[in-house]
Amino acid sequence: MRIILLGPPGAGKGTQAKSMSESLGIVHISSGDLLRDHQARGTELGNTAHSYMQQGLLVPDELIIGMIEERIQLPDAKNGYVLDGFPRTVEQAKALEEALEKQGETIDRVANISVSEEELILRLGGRWICRQCQKPYHEVNSVPRKHGVCDDCGGELYQREDDVPEAVSHRIKVFAEQTTPLIRYYTEKGNLVEVDGEGRIEEVRESLLSAVA
Ligand code: AMP
Repeated sequence: MRIILLGPPGAGKGTQAKSMSESLGIVHISSGDLLRDHQARGTELGNTAHSYMQQGLLVPDELIIGMIEERIQLPDAKNGYVLDGFPRTVEQAKALEEALEKQGETIDRVANISVSEEELILRLGGRWICRQCQKPYHEVNSVPRKHGVCDDCGGELYQREDDVPEAVSHRIKVFAEQTTPLIRYYTEKGNLVEVDGEGRIEEVRESLLSAVA
């Protein structure tokens, strides 16, 4: 099963993609995590992507497309995957479709998680993430048992540099301008399902699982 999760930054794509991948037995592929990993390793791609990411801008399509095409060829993606953060432009969606077509494959479902702008700003402003397993926490809504430490793996919690207010408002604007056209693109293809992302994590999870079933 190949699934795409769409939604603005802060909609919960990372949390939900992780949990869906566990329930469905398929891999979670996050373009943002892959880019942050490149940055941490100091690769050429990571260094180029850094200034775009820091400002909340999209990394150029040609860089991202190559990275994802390579990732979905790996053996662990054979049974399927949940794509989180990719595609983010219609060009990326078309490139993905072409790459899949060559292998006789298609995307089965696209789920769009919607959350109001006010809620996104609140969520991203207080977000802390585990450096090791990427689990997100929130300083008000989802506090770790021990300050600065991940409940699950004991990793160190950090605040992403693009979660500062200026980058957050850029990311929301970029989403509205460049990623919203994808909603129409997939609606026209007939495989888009809408999911309300404002409920509790478990409620959103259930809605997503039944929407993609
Ligand atoms: P995310 O972790 O999905 O919020 O992504 C963090 C940042 O990585 C974004 O603000 C972009 O700068 C970059 N990024 C991630 N995915 C993409 C993509 N599909 N296209 C372009 N830039 C991306």
